[in-house]
Amino acid sequence: ELESTVSITVVGASGDLAKKKIFPALFALFYEDCIPQHFTIFGYARTRLTDEEMRNMISKTLACRIDKRANCSDKMEQFLQRCFYHSGEYGLEENFSELDRKLKEQEVGRLANRLFYLSIPPNIFVDVVRCASRSASSPTGWTRVIVEKPFGRDSQSSAELTQSLKQYLTEDQIFRIDHYLGKELVENLSVLRFSNLVFEPLWSRQFIRNVQLIFSEDFGTEGRGGYFDNYGIIRDIMQNHLLQILALFAMETPVSLAAEDIRNEKVKVLRSMRVLQLDDVVVGQYKGHTKGGRSYPAYVDDPTVPKGSLTPTFAAAALFIDNARWDGVPFLMKAGKALHTGRAEIRVQFRHVPGNLYKRNFGSDLDKATNELVIRVQPDEAIYLKINNKVPGLNMRLDRSNLNLLYAARYPIEIPDAYERLLMDAIEGERRLFIRSDELDAAWAIFTPVLKELEEKRIAPELYPYGSRGPVGAYYLAAKHNVRWGDLSSDNNS
Ligand code: NAP
Repeated sequence: ELESTVSITVVGASGDLAKKKIFPALFALFYEDCIPQHFTIFGYARTRLTDEEMRNMISKTLACRIDKRANCSDKMEQFLQRCFYHSGEYGLEENFSELDRKLKEQEVGRLANRLFYLSIPPNIFVDVVRCASRSASSPTGWTRVIVEKPFGRDSQSSAELTQSLKQYLTEDQIFRIDHYLGKELVENLSVLRFSNLVFEPLWSRQFIRNVQLIFSEDFGTEGRGGYFDNYGIIRDIMQNHLLQILALFAMETPVSLAAEDIRNEKVKVLRSMRVLQLDDVVVGQYKGHTKGGRSYPAYVDDPTVPKGSLTPTFAAAALFIDNARWDGVPFLMKAGKALHTGRAEIRVQFRHVPGNLYKRNFGSDLDKATNELVIRVQPDEAIYLKINNKVPGLNMRLDRSNLNLLYAARYPIEIPDAYERLLMDAIEGERRLFIRSDELDAAWAIFTPVLKELEEKRIAPELYPYGSRGPVGAYYLAAKHNVRWGDLSSDNNS
């Protein structure tokens, strides 16, 4: 039997994502012995580079992350010797045939599996897939393709993209990446819920008042708004990252941990969701602001953004899952750029204690006394549960405390980057964390009508100052559903 090898071609190797994330993740996998012993990495792009020039380019972004004291220059050198470059056009099959020849030279005598990572703008996805599948797919082993968002901009364009990809690939060759699914705390959601008795029994409308999915960045587009302006925050963050977390959070118990069992449950939740309505959405856009003598630009000041753009850089939305478990429970999403803080978290607010004996200790504001579970995905990964507790002393005074699991304190190791796990899974053929096409369709179905309506009616976003907490509309939306945003309370653990 032939020994096998894997060849990984990073298409768009000269780009930002490749340099910042993909090559460093591949090196980390090599360092930790998590890719097959024999492997080859090819960079592919139009930029003309020699193998040596590409090695120089990527060596700058590799780090001896795992053990900083160890000198990993040997490992780095070994890794770089397995990296090559091929310059070519994205739509020319002959250029991919040349790549194929170079791949074969490296693969000779082995069963060759091939992985293509499309780190390129979406308008050339299909070209590359056509060329790669016709002229550079593996004659002996598997051929897989990783694609990054955006997967279209609405139901129709997404379905067209899927259809075009499927002219050249089967569904099980397509690995649609959502890097949030590779994040440690998102992976942990199922562990927390399904392997602890104390959570799963509470995981329903009976005990949970609302769920909040919050994403914020403390910077704007900063000259890179060209791509963003065509999509906006709802497509960029909500329809994919936050909705994926929601699906994992809310799904029924899967039959097993097998990829198809999990993805089946996620699709079920997504298909049970109500189509988002315009009056359950608030959109915002940041405006210029001066603070402490420094001035911060408005979104429309970004030279790559068209003047007068109405693209939302902030959105809040109330979503509902019309099934037996979640009937009536608001799932609130909030995502924005240029806010006062940068983080991603899940907040679960529990119901009031019926007949609470300590009611009078909380004054008129019983909402403040409810338990809240917070899962902070980034930065400073943490899980904490807000509980009511007696302040030690002779009188009966209660306060809110946190049962607190701070990852940095409990696990003093560096948490692997999401791309490492996802690349490893793609090489191993583990599809659990990748998006199946029916999941993608269901996700678009929830957001497409409102996205169309926002654009057709040219709804003006509510302006909010750069570095602020976002538009006040988000408070009203929450209030309409009897929700108070947890991230705005003062007993925040940060
Ligand atoms: P990028 O730097 O803009 O593009 C990657 C490479 O694609 C470029 O180096 C360029 O290489 C090639 N390219 C082909 N046609 C191009 C065109 N019309 N304009 C610009 N470049 C073109 O993109 P990226 O930031 O690395 O991201 C890669 C993909 O991942 C994109 O589809 C993006 O939407 C997605 N993504 C990126 C991030 C991120 O953090 N950057 C996050 C999520 C998703 P040559 O000129 O050498 O051919």
